[in-house]
Amino acid sequence: MNIDQERLATTFTHLCQTDSPSRREGKIAAVLKNIFSDLAPDHFFEDDSAAITGSESGNLFFRFTGTTHQEPLFFNCHMDTVQPGVGVRVRREGDIFTSIGDTILGSDDKSGIAALIEALQVIRENNLPFRPVEIVLTTCEEIGLLGAKALNPEHILAKTGYSLDSSGFGRVITGAPASNRLQVTIGGVASHAGLHPEWGINAITLAGKALAQIACGRIDDQSTVNLGTIHGGTASNIVPEKVVIHGEVRSHSQHRLEELTSEIEAIFTTTVKNWRDPSGQAKGVPSLDFTSELDFPLMLLDREDQVIIEAEQAAQAVDLELTFERAGGGSDANIFNGYGLQTAIIATGMTHVHSTNEQVSLQDMVALTRLIIALMTR
Ligand SMILES: [Zn+2]
Repeated sequence: MNIDQERLATTFTHLCQTDSPSRREGKIAAVLKNIFSDLAPDHFFEDDSAAITGSESGNLFFRFTGTTHQEPLFFNCHMDTVQPGVGVRVRREGDIFTSIGDTILGSDDKSGIAALIEALQVIRENNLPFRPVEIVLTTCEEIGLLGAKALNPEHILAKTGYSLDSSGFGRVITGAPASNRLQVTIGGVASHAGLHPEWGINAITLAGKALAQIACGRIDDQSTVNLGTIHGGTASNIVPEKVVIHGEVRSHSQHRLEELTSEIEAIFTTTVKNWRDPSGQAKGVPSLDFTSELDFPLMLLDREDQVIIEAEQAAQAVDLELTFERAGGGSDANIFNGYGLQTAIIATGMTHVHSTNEQVSLQDMVALTRLIIALMTR
């Protein structure tokens, strides 16, 4: 397998130096359309998700029919990068890539994309027999998996695939939590705090009573809870009329996710219900609006699942040792698994992601390319 390391380095640098903040993926999408069309895909299209995500681009799909009659396989990366990520200048020292220091590098997720491109180039120039392969490049992953959520899964013919999108190397992510996003609005009654405090109902005090009863942080070995923002009140001399709280519950157990969400709702409900009017002069009663929305579904793969077995076999073929782990975050792979597409996440070698110290080594990207080729040609 002749991987052209310098070509891979050049591709990676070119991708990193092409701006691609979330929703502004137009430039990188144009570059990728060019690069992938040179690899002669049998089918290409851009979906109409831009209207939903607000991105300059839709999700991109490249289909390669392949030359063998094995099951098709898809590979996914996201095109967008976090900020500060405009005007990235790549620094290379030996085999290590970083930015020059004022931006992120963008190896999240361009290390994965560059390895995919190099893998297909090697397959094409060596005429290696390969299975049907689909490349799915999403937008707006970093701002809530918006591209993957807006994607029509019927566009993907394969039933199994890999997201190349995790830090470290040799890691395969087999599970990630589901998450509920919470919005809680507590309504009180506004009144002048000095003249008619009896008329008012203090929404902040009520919120505080409820919040004091809610455990945040790691709740058990499967679950976490966070109440992340709170907004309320208008002035120090007005009894606050409204408090809005945003939070989340995550769990590797669907059952625990629902249980914890209900417990939190019950605390708010009981607190508001137990409100008593101390003077009997309040101009109303408090109210509660509690909404919980599934942000992303559970990802839970088994060691016996085809994606895991195939990853192990491919790794063996290229002498690579893999570790299998659960992650705490949600990514596009959660959404794909939610669509019924069995998807594991493979680490690309990137480290210190989302910081200006982000880095990746060429040797890790070369090893990743080998693994991808093994998966495509097995
Ligand atoms: Zn990523």
